[in-house]
Amino acid sequence: MNYRDEWTKKYEEDGIQASEEVFTKFHCRFCSKDYELDNNGESKIKRHISTDKHKKNKGEHHPTDKYKDQVSTFNRNRNTFITRNKLAI
Ligand SMILES: [Zn+2]
Repeated sequence: MNYRDEWTKKYEEDGIQASEEVFTKFHCRFCSKDYELDNNGESKIKRHISTDKHKKNKGEHHPTDKYKDQVSTFNRNRNTFITRNKLAI
């Protein structure tokens, strides 16, 4: 299953965005990691954001700092700009 752009908006609070590597992964800004999607794509995201690890990482980020250090990079594979946290690079 490929990443769907609507998930970025839907899971914005949980820092979910497209992976820059492949269509079949999503990137978590809070955990600074890419995770595989499976056939139930979205359920993988739901499962990830319910893990203690993710909640802990999310808790350590101050909400007001959320967009402070973001940078946009152009991704040739996806033909779109991807915004991600500088700290996650
Ligand atoms: Zn996470």
